[in-house]
Order: sequence, then C-alpha cells, then structure tokens
Amino acid sequence: MVEGSPAEPHARRRVLIVGAGVAGLTAAFRLQQAGVPFEVWEASSRAGGMVGSHDEDGFTTEAGPVGVLEDDTGAVPLARELGVPVVPADPDATRRWVVRDGHLKAFPSSPLGVFNGDHLPPWRAASALLEPWRRVGREDDETVHAFLSRRFGRGVADAFSEVALVGITAGDPRSTSVDAMFPTWRTLERSHGSLLRGLIAQRKQAGKRPRKLHAFGPGRMEALVEGLHAHVRHGVHLSRPVTSLRRDGGDWVARDAQQRDGVFSHVLLATGAQVSASLLRSVDPTLAELLASVPYAPMRVVGLGYRREDVPHALDGYGFLVPEQPRVRSLGVLFSSSLFPNQAPRGHVHLRVLMGGVRDPDAVTLSGEDALAVATRDLQRTLGIHARPVHVHQVTWSDAIPQYGLGHHSWAQRVKQHAAALPGLALCGGAYGGGVGVNDAVRSADEAVTPWLERLPEA
Ligand SMILES: Cc1cc2nc3c(=O)[nH]c(=O)nc-3n(C[C@H](O)[C@H](O)[C@H](O)COP(=O)(O)OP(=O)(O)OC[C@H]3O[C@@H](n4cnc5c(N)ncnc54)[C@H](O)[C@@H]3O)c2cc1C
Repeated sequence: MVEGSPAEPHARRRVLIVGAGVAGLTAAFRLQQAGVPFEVWEASSRAGGMVGSHDEDGFTTEAGPVGVLEDDTGAVPLARELGVPVVPADPDATRRWVVRDGHLKAFPSSPLGVFNGDHLPPWRAASALLEPWRRVGREDDETVHAFLSRRFGRGVADAFSEVALVGITAGDPRSTSVDAMFPTWRTLERSHGSLLRGLIAQRKQAGKRPRKLHAFGPGRMEALVEGLHAHVRHGVHLSRPVTSLRRDGGDWVARDAQQRDGVFSHVLLATGAQVSASLLRSVDPTLAELLASVPYAPMRVVGLGYRREDVPHALDGYGFLVPEQPRVRSLGVLFSSSLFPNQAPRGHVHLRVLMGGVRDPDAVTLSGEDALAVATRDLQRTLGIHARPVHVHQVTWSDAIPQYGLGHHSWAQRVKQHAAALPGLALCGGAYGGGVGVNDAVRSADEAVTPWLERLPEA
C-alpha cells in the first residue's frame, strides 16, 4: 500500500521523521509549530527512546538519562515552552566520590583539589602542578588520555582520564578524541596557555556558577517526552518501524514492517547511526558505511530500592564513579533518590547502578540474576549494604552511547557532505559530534529541521 502518491501535492511536502526519541519528537514539535506536515514512524510501542521512567512499588528507575544540565538551548527551555514543569535536583546532593582500591574517595570540586593525596601520590601531584609551564599542544587531535598525559603527566592521565569519561560516554580514554569530547579543554589550553589557568579563570568569571541538574514533572525524565508527545501525538505512529528507504524521482519512499509504503519529500533520521546506516544502505552505500563505522557503548541499568535502615552510607551526594579495577565491576552508582526524593517511597532509597560501557560490553549479556549479583556485591563493597534490595528493575541498551574516536569531527564533516548530496535528507542525534546527552539531541533536532521550517510550507 502506498500512502500519498507522488502526484498528490500533499505527498510532495510531507516530512517523515524516523524515530520518536527525544530528538525525533523535538523535530516534530518544531515542524508542527511552523505548520509543516509531518509523520513520525517509531519502531517501539512507546515514544521517548532512551528517555523513559519506570514506576513500580513507589520507586522510579530512569531507563536512560536521569537529568539534564540547564542551559540556554537544550531540554530545560524546551520543557518551559511545552509547559512541562522543570524540577531541580536536591541542591545538597552534589558530593561525588571515586572508587580507588575498592574504597570511596571524595572527589574534590575545585580543579586544584584533585591533586590531594587521595587520588595521586605526592610526587605525581607535584609534577602535575607544573602544567601551566608546559608547551601548548599543536596536535591535530589527540586522545583524552594523551592530552591529560601531555599537560599533567602520566599519573594524572591514568588516575583521571577514565573518570572524566565514564559518567558521560562510558568510553575508553585511550581512543576517545579530546577535540570532539572536551573541546573546551583545548580552547582553554590555547587561550590561557594552560588548562589549569583556564579552568581557574573560568570559575572566577563573574556569575559563572556550576550548572544544575534538572528533571521534569515531579522529578522524572519521562515527563519531558510525554509533554512533547502530547503536542504532536496526531502525527506519531508507534509500533511502525521503517524497514527500508528508497529514492523515487525526487521523493523518498519509506516502507514499514507490514510492507506499507509512504511517500515523503523530506526524511529526518532521528535514529542511532547504526540504524540510519542500515536504512541508507541501498540509497548511498558510502554514507551508510561511514555511519556504520561509529562504535556504540552498550549499557545496563540496575535500579535498586532499599529500606533506608539497610543502607549504612549517608547517601549525601550525587553518587560515585568507578575507574577500572578488580574489586568493583560497575561503572558507577547514582544516589537517585538523594537527587530526586520522589524516586523512592518514604523510608526507602533508590540507587541506580550502571554497568557495561566500552570496558565491559559483556555486562549487557549477563542474565538478570547474574547482573543483580554483580550490582549487589559492588554495593556491599563500596557502600557496605548487606541487605537484599526490596525492589529491582533492569534495563539494557545494546547501542547506548556513540563513541567519538580520534578524528570524529572530520568524520562528522564527511557525513554532512554526503547527506547534503541527498536532497531532503537530514540526520540528527548524538553521533554527529555535538555531544551525546539529551540537550545535544534536542539541539541537533532543532538544527536539522530549521532549514526546512521556512522553505517547506510553500514548497
Ligand atoms: C544508561 C544511559 C544513561 C544516560 N544518562 C544521560 C544523562 O544523565 N543525561 C543526558 O543528557 N543524557 C544521558 N544519556 C543519553 C541520552 O539518553 C541520549 O542522548 C538521548 O536519549 C538520545 O535521544 P535520541 O532521540 O537521539 O535517540 P533515541 O532515544 O535512541 O531514539 C531513537 C528512536 O528511534 C527508534 N527507532 C530505531 N530504529 C527505528 C526504525 N527502524 N524505525 C523507526 N524507529 C526506529 C527507537 O525505538 C528510538 O525510539 C544516557 C543514555 C543511557 C543509555
């Protein structure tokens, strides 16, 4: 069945958005505001993609993101536009820890604080403090580990490069591009002749306060995608995966799993790069190959509810990160109900254990029982919890977070050039170098559809 033949004028100016994650829904919302006809085809039976909040027994487990940092262009202003309540995390839950040799060590909040004895031997710290006098790098791109090694010495790179990444991309610092992942580090190095001087100057800047974490509704991420979905619901088709795309004259023809075709003038792929690659294989094999070359880290979320009296730790902070070590397998633990108290019922706490990443891809193939055993053993070793959890909810993501390898910016440039040669095609999401978080997904969707907003209605 073909919906909208190319002869119909409406078919010629319809946009198909593939994927109803936060990026696809944001794009749909923008098209709707501009009066541009669109459809969203979503493979799953719910909208939101990785943004989803599971409520059970009074506990809320975030399947993907737990929060977003407020900025001028991301999810927080979008939520305000949608009329979705924005809820800040508890301002007292800011302390973080890093696990060293199986024990929690407080992570200092100031750049100089990291050189205290908890994280580095004194001679390593002394050598790191020479950073302001080291030469400014002229490398085209380098890995996060190589950058920190060059600026602060090998000891700092070994102690902190994984910590810097594990909570963002769960990536490998020895293959992640510093230019793509931490572009401000390079900018500060160049503008101040030193990263340390740059970071200190940045903190001193008038009005420069640390950005705060926020969620939505009563303190859950799903409220954002529910708000978006409510605005564009009429155009969203759930349980309708796109199985192929082809060009027909100047149009795009999308086919779904039931062999139904739709004809569109424009297509926005708001899917991960691997899915986008498979959909574009017959249209542009070179572009498909480029897209398929981006690796993704898998992730497993183990949400655990405990009675408060069973947890000896004060949980007076954000949570802790775990650089690779033999005693603790998890990547980190978030004190979710310390950040958003509504995520556990009275007298209880909720913890979110993250596993997997580039260093431990097998964590997503463990049985639920084995993963629970790993998570509870890690919590016993780090927080001293011996009791069984009263609530468990697990989620696995096979292609969770795109990895920005060396030269990622030039990869993104090549993708852009290839996509531009296919009229009416756009791509958005975290793979394209703008960042891997929810704010970045929102921004990438805005950027992808902006050129269509004015031109399309008159087309
Ligand atoms: C465990 C975890 C923790 C995270 N923590 C944070 C955090 O704290 N803060 C933060 O900012 N970010 C975080 N992120 C990242 C954040 O979740 C993503 O940046 C964001 O959700 C990406 O949204 P998206 O719309 O680009 O992609 P997705 O959410 O992946 O949406 C893509 C959609 O496309 C659909 N789809 C796939 N194939 C097809 C097809 N063939 N046809 C139709 N539809 C298809 C999928 O079902 C999905 O709904 C986290 C991610 C994970 C996994």
